[in-house]
Amino acid sequence: METLTLPLIASTQSYLETPSDQLRAWFADQGEPAMRHKQVRRWLLMGRASSFALMTDLPRGLRERLDERFRLFSSRVDRAMVSNDGTEKLLIRLADGNLVECVLLKEADRRTVCISTQVGCGMGCVFCASGIGGVVRNLSTTEILEQLLHVRNRLPADERLSHVVVMGMGEPMANLEPLLEALDVACSPEGLGMSARHIHISTVGLPAKMRRLADAGKQYHLAVSLHAPTDALRNQIVPTNDKVGLAAILEAADYFQATTGRQVTYEYVLLRGVNDRAEDASGLVQLLRGRQGHINLIPFNDVAGLPFRRLAQDSLVAFVEILRSARLSVTVRKRHGADIDAACGQLRREALAAPLGNPSAELHSAAGV
Ligand code: SAH
Repeated sequence: METLTLPLIASTQSYLETPSDQLRAWFADQGEPAMRHKQVRRWLLMGRASSFALMTDLPRGLRERLDERFRLFSSRVDRAMVSNDGTEKLLIRLADGNLVECVLLKEADRRTVCISTQVGCGMGCVFCASGIGGVVRNLSTTEILEQLLHVRNRLPADERLSHVVVMGMGEPMANLEPLLEALDVACSPEGLGMSARHIHISTVGLPAKMRRLADAGKQYHLAVSLHAPTDALRNQIVPTNDKVGLAAILEAADYFQATTGRQVTYEYVLLRGVNDRAEDASGLVQLLRGRQGHINLIPFNDVAGLPFRRLAQDSLVAFVEILRSARLSVTVRKRHGADIDAACGQLRREALAAPLGNPSAELHSAAGV
């Protein structure tokens, strides 16, 4: 009978994905002090090392043994698209072959990374590319963190990541604990040293998890994807609303604001002929009356195969005017990377459909902030 020789998983194990206690035990086996683990982590998180060989304060023999035993990352950049305005969109391949997307946005001194929390998305919002194939799985803490590192490692040495928006693929509240762990590393002085106040998390509105986030005692900013002023309309475009309802979501948002002192942003994707009427704007005024929230209107970004259209400029102006005349604080999301456009989840869809296809064809972006 033929015997199959399977590759040893251990030999290709990712350093970052391996639990710290196992790594310390491995160093002990090698006759090395436990602090070696701290050194390697520092190289990966702060030193931008792209190989063990470059970790020059480790003994050469140890670097070679590390290299035989581990890979640095569990994921890798499969494809990178760079826009004329500097926006970079990365397609990341995970160890099991799944794909996720993340984006780097450059604006003056800001270097913002937009990250994914799941492969696909289970929320099924009817206008969104990420949800079209449903959710495949949650990302691990390391897979979330590695998106930050892949993007950061592309920056020139004198630039650092300043902001994170959790607005890529997936619903962050459906994978909250791994996300919080990854963000802890992002904010740690021994990690990426970022400021929690520069981290924005966007949710479809899962009240229990929004409260959990509020209670986490962090200064993260919360954005709630509202998209409609009434349950009747929201049920049609955000299917999860059916079981939750606007009242519970707004209560949870109020709780977040009261607990953290951070103003909540309400996002509203404008879909032509669906939620863009004057009465929708007035409904939004009613709904948010008495709240301190800020409204971020998002012009719809085309998704191949979906029937929705973006608003004409004059309709957008009229919608904004109704909100502003009611003294609501409103901004319209700017579009980034128009020439490498790839609405959240669309680059992955395209890659799945035609792995060797032309990446610049028919891609549209929802990655702006
Ligand atoms: N699951 C989270 C994160 C989604 S992405 C959430 O629902 O908030 C961040 C924002 O982009 C959300 O408000 C989402 O509804 C919106 N979005 C998704 N697809 C879009 C598209 N094609 N055009 C414009 N905005 C889109």
